[in-house]
Amino acid sequence: MTVCIYLNGKFYDQPEDAHLSPYDHGFLYGDGIFEGIRVYNGRVFKLDEHIKRLYDSALSLMLKIPHQMEEMKKLVVETCRRSGLKDIYVRLVVSRGPGNFGLDPRHCKKSTVVIMAGAIQLYPKEKYVKGLKVVTTSTRRNRPDCVNSQIKSLNYLNNIIAKLETIRVNADEGIMLNDEGYVSEATADNIFIVKNRSKKVKLFTPPAYLGILEGITRNTVIELAETAGFSVREEPFTVNDIYASDECFLTGSGAELIPVIEMDGRPVGQGVPGPHFKRLLEAYQKLTHSDGTPVYE
Ligand code: PMP
Repeated sequence: MTVCIYLNGKFYDQPEDAHLSPYDHGFLYGDGIFEGIRVYNGRVFKLDEHIKRLYDSALSLMLKIPHQMEEMKKLVVETCRRSGLKDIYVRLVVSRGPGNFGLDPRHCKKSTVVIMAGAIQLYPKEKYVKGLKVVTTSTRRNRPDCVNSQIKSLNYLNNIIAKLETIRVNADEGIMLNDEGYVSEATADNIFIVKNRSKKVKLFTPPAYLGILEGITRNTVIELAETAGFSVREEPFTVNDIYASDECFLTGSGAELIPVIEMDGRPVGQGVPGPHFKRLLEAYQKLTHSDGTPVYE
């Protein structure tokens, strides 16, 4: 088996056999939540953190997950085990479930739980070596008092509209600002810049309150950077700070750590992936290959 799908109590090895109701409010309204999780060499990376974030998102949306957290972790591990793979991308989705045409979630009697475990799709390998060319998008990130970005919801239109802008101008990624003009994040990744001007190398990333998803990779990089002796600041910054930075990179469970070499047509630093990025990437890869919940033991 090279893919395994869990859907509401059953496991499937053919995606087309796993059927969902067209009345599911996840489909009709994007009413649901998800996590994207990686398995490296047979170990689920940061499983506890992903499950915690899923249940936090559920709490915000008053969405009932029909499993306790420990049970959900076991289901994720079991789905991975049945895939037979060692390097896996897991998509865990909980939607409001089937209801009627109205928005009212009270008509959805049972939420839908889907866990998909399959082969991982990376950005093209050359992007990790050469780096990304990114642009600022005109679409602003959702305000925290509208759709809070800390909820990892199925409602990604804000990000998709920004992604369409980046595709239209042939950029690799788009950097979204919040409504005040501060840098928030990329369309599906967090952002870091490196400033190398004083004795101590400083790493900056936007604080969660600006309206970003508080990435699990972001938090891991902060920990690794602090251990490596960098000074890490969760502080607001503008696109000008990116233009004037020495290095810039994006982070996400899917993307891992990926360098940015150009921002709005301006080279970032030397216009090539920098030494501090490379050092952090090495530390991240070391961690992902040694840490995690075992699938096959
Ligand atoms: N921001 C957004 C909008 C995301 O969708 C994601 C996940 N792809 C991230 C940041 C990174 O989060 P994580 O490191 O937890 O995957």
